[in-house]
Amino acid sequence: MAKILLVEDEVNIASFIERGLRESGHEVRVAYHGDEAREALQSEVFELLILDIILPKGNGLQICRDYRRQQGYATPVIMLTALGTTDDIVGGLDAGADDYLVKPFSFQELEARLKALLRRSLTRQEADSVMRCGDLTLDPSGHRALRGDVAIDLTVREYRLLEYFMQHQGIALSRLTLLRDVWDKNFDTNTNVVDVYVNYLRTKIDKDYKHKLLHTVVGVGYMLEA
Ligand code: CA
Repeated sequence: MAKILLVEDEVNIASFIERGLRESGHEVRVAYHGDEAREALQSEVFELLILDIILPKGNGLQICRDYRRQQGYATPVIMLTALGTTDDIVGGLDAGADDYLVKPFSFQELEARLKALLRRSLTRQEADSVMRCGDLTLDPSGHRALRGDVAIDLTVREYRLLEYFMQHQGIALSRLTLLRDVWDKNFDTNTNVVDVYVNYLRTKIDKDYKHKLLHTVVGVGYMLEA
């Protein structure tokens, strides 16, 4: 169930959509013109937007464009268009919409698309979710690592190595496994590249801290554990 902003100036259509969404358990705010939509977007956070294109005091395409510029792409947007010409559809997608519906449409169709978009945005949020080990955090969306409040500057390879350790916490990982999964090498190249990079990583995430996170497992390899 999501918090949805519905922007639609035709009162009958707005109330028909609003009623359907509420019956499906969503929380809905309705804006009947452009200014109202902008005001709602400034004051509240929504999980999905449904935008009509032709509106008094505004235009759905412009609202979508401004919203994307200010707030990014995390929230899905569905455009409603009465016109259904290719230009309109392309315009909507260009403005940053994820999907569109041509009026008249059935509520079932709107709901099916809305469900798909919400599911996708949820999967994306999960994929972007922050990983933790003790006070060490790794934020994949910002490609950032922190120990406590201290930002740790990592190279691309160090980042990838740390990410792999984060995904396999508490598991002893052999040099061969690390070579295969972090360096994409399927054989023992007889290099000490893994040891070298684990040492780089240790210097950055453990050296100045009493509580160590990256451990040597004798006879096996390395393990990240809080
Ligand atoms: Ca309209």
